Order: sequence, then C-alpha cells, then structure tokens
Amino acid sequence: MTPNKKVKILATLGPAIKTIDDIRQLVEAGVNLFRLNFSHGEHADHAQRYDWVREVEQQLNTPIGILMDLQGPKLRVGRFKEGKVNLQRGQTLRLDLDSTPGDAQRVNLPHPEIIEALQPGMNLLLDDGRLRLQVTSKQSDAVITEVIAGGELSDRKGVNVPEAVLQLSPLTDKDRRDLAFGLQLGVDWVALSFVQRPEDIIEARELIGDKAFLMAKIEKPSAVIHLEEIARLCDAIMVARGDLGVEVPAENVPRIQKDIIRTCRQLGKPVVVATQMLESMRFSPAPTRAEVTDVANAVAEGADAVMLSAETASGDYPLEAVQMMSKIIRQVENGPDFQAQLDVGRPQAEATTSDAISCAIRRISTILPVAALVNYTESGASSLRASRERPTAAILSLTPSLNTARRLTVAWGIYSVVNERLHKVEEVTSTALEIAQAQGMAQRGDTLVITAGEPFGQPGSTNSLRIETLH
Ligand code: PGA
Ligand code: MN
Repeated sequence: MTPNKKVKILATLGPAIKTIDDIRQLVEAGVNLFRLNFSHGEHADHAQRYDWVREVEQQLNTPIGILMDLQGPKLRVGRFKEGKVNLQRGQTLRLDLDSTPGDAQRVNLPHPEIIEALQPGMNLLLDDGRLRLQVTSKQSDAVITEVIAGGELSDRKGVNVPEAVLQLSPLTDKDRRDLAFGLQLGVDWVALSFVQRPEDIIEARELIGDKAFLMAKIEKPSAVIHLEEIARLCDAIMVARGDLGVEVPAENVPRIQKDIIRTCRQLGKPVVVATQMLESMRFSPAPTRAEVTDVANAVAEGADAVMLSAETASGDYPLEAVQMMSKIIRQVENGPDFQAQLDVGRPQAEATTSDAISCAIRRISTILPVAALVNYTESGASSLRASRERPTAAILSLTPSLNTARRLTVAWGIYSVVNERLHKVEEVTSTALEIAQAQGMAQRGDTLVITAGEPFGQPGSTNSLRIETLH
C-alpha cells in the first residue's frame, strides 16, 4: 500500500467491528495499528480480533501493529441495593471496606490501600469526574466524605483520586493474567494504564522482556511530573486524555498534551494522542467542528499517531470515523505551513553519527525532489531517529524483522517492508531501488536517499548515506 499520510491512526477494536472485512476496510481507510482494550471483552474476543488483524496483514501485504491495553489499577465503588443512588450536594457519604450493597449513606470502596492513602481535604472524583466528594474525616476502615458535586451514582462506577500517590503495583492480578495471554498471542505493544512512577515501567518491563514494546499511558498527575524519566524508560507514550482530564482540571490538558509531545519528540519516543478525538461520531456520521480542529492540532503539534476509542470499538460509524481522521491528517500535512510548524518544535540532534545522518536526510529532502528516504534497520532504532526529524519525504524502512515492522507502525512517517537480511550497503541500494518502485513510492527519474549502518545488525551503527536516481 502506498503511504499517503505521515501521522498514524491507532483504532480500538470492539463489538462494532464484527468481521474480518470490517478490519480490512479500516486498514484501507488508514488504520496503521489496532488496540485491543483489556478493560472490556473476553479473551476469546481479543484472540478472534487478533487473528483477523494478522490475516488482513497478509491479505494486504502490509505490516499492522497490535497493541494490548491493560486496564491497570482502575478504582471502582461497589454496588448499591437498588443499583444506583442520587447524591445531594452537602450530604455525607461514607466509603468503607464492607462489601454489602450500599445506599445513599454508605458504599463499598473495595481498596484498603486507597482508604489508607486518603487524607481529610482530598477529593474523590466519580464516574469520569461527574461527581466529586471531599474527605472530611477518616477511620481505620472507612472515610467520611462530603458531596461537593452530586448526581446519580450507579454500581461499579470509576473512582479517581488525583491528589494521592497510591502504593499500588501498576499491574493488577487481572493485568498479569491478561498480559500472559496477550504475549502468548504475540501482541507487538503493551500499554500500561495509570502509570505513576518510573519504577512502574521497570516492573512491567521485567515481565514483558523483549516480547513486546511498552507504551506508558500518561493519565495521572504523578506521571506528568515524572514524564521525562518515564518516557526514557519506555518505548512510546500515550496522552490518555480521558482519565487525565479527570485527574487534572480539564483546562490543563491542552498544555500537558503539548508538553508531552515536545518531550517525546526530544527523546525520539513515538507519542499517541488519545480519547474523544471524534467522540460525537459514535452516534453521528459527521464530527463537530471542534473535534476536527482537535485532530488537526494534534497533527500540527507533531504527534506520531492519533487514536480512536469508542468511535471504532462500539460506535455506529467506525469506518466513517477512520476516513474522517485520515482526511483531516492529510489536509494538515498538505497545508502550506505544516513543515514550518513542525520545524518550530524540532528537537536538537544528539552528537551521534545516526543523528547527523538523520539531520542530513531531512535537509536533503528539502533540496532534492526525494521520493523516499530508505533506511535499512533490524531493531528499528535508526528509522525512529530519522522519523524524529520529521522529514518531508516518507521513510521507507527495510527490515528483515516482521516484529520491527509491526512495532514501527506507530511512528511518524515510517512505512516498513519486510525483506531478507542484508549484509552490504550495495545490497541495500539495489533492494531499496527495487522495493521503492514496487511499492509505488518512486518512479523512473526520482531520487532516493538510502541509509544503512555497518557493521550490519548493530543498532545505532547508521553511518552511510547514498543518493541514487532511479533509471
Ligand atoms: P482508556 O485510556 O480508554 O483505557 O481509559 C485512555 C484514556 O484514559 O484517555
Ligand atoms: Mn484511561
């Protein structure tokens, strides 16, 4: 498939995607990788979707990434006798460890470590922040709260406690079971929810090893504080605006999004902007103007990928949502000031041969009419450094590793082709010319910039750059 956009689309699979054909259509409309959301669904559903994606990958002969998203320590209240209650502003509500169904006076909060961490004055946000409680006093096995913002509260609704750093492992027992299952399936990426500290990444990495790449979801204030260290330790970052917008005031999210994108671009870690991007398309075939602008802004800010959640997982218009997202991306990328805008946020090169070459290829692609920047990579590291420069021409990444190709699907401007392992720069040159032509990325007379590293197979060894014209 010929790449027609630089920014990637990550789409969540769910009950709205019912057949393998649905998946193929989403890929043809611009999806580069899929998310299996382990907050919902049975293992059998995820396995079915996984198999479909792998089959579509073969049908279309293009690498497609699969990300498993772990639920993480999502906190919830217990159940109510009548399924729900109505809480009035100013009233008292007790949260305790008693698992019997609650009423308007008390409800179960089945997390002793949260009760432990709560202090008078702290806020609890319920049901995506719609309700707010403030702790007034504390007992050994309960907290007493005052309802600051009331409303209906039903069984098992989510609880956020932004002010507390919780002594929780980032991986619950459920996450560990899900992770073992997903790694067994062969997912390419694992996303970790509610990351709080750099140690969380280390703990997850120990379990995952090199079986998959690791993406940290930034949705807790403490993760924002430790962002740089977290980003250094993982392979990519997600700006998880859903929970983030509950944990911090919603009006702070745009600035945090900008900061996260800047930090990730500096470190060369792919960054995904997620949640509510085309939210209204769950129920409508057309987005709001504000949503279109939101997607366009994420592209202009230099995000590697944008994500669709319920829009594709459970919405009425999954295909339309992907088509719309692709159109917005292309519109921004083809705009007159896109490159200039990206250049404003361009990170400093590090003093390495690989970065020197990456800078050079970006510059060359502004001087010559370069059809593609071809990079031979085994680990994917050199293609990521090239992508970090946000060059005008597409990056064609040749790799002998299908895993690498799938992992790179999240990264800005990189399109991978899996071919045999190469050993010499000359081989890379002839293969590059052949494949770029076969992929429809270059025609006779076009210029290709080809990079590779000797010794071959050693990450970070990129040290040669050739300019070739197709005859
Ligand atoms: P979720 O993560 O959809 O798994 O909650 C994304 C977010 O919180 O924005
Ligand atoms: Mn979340």
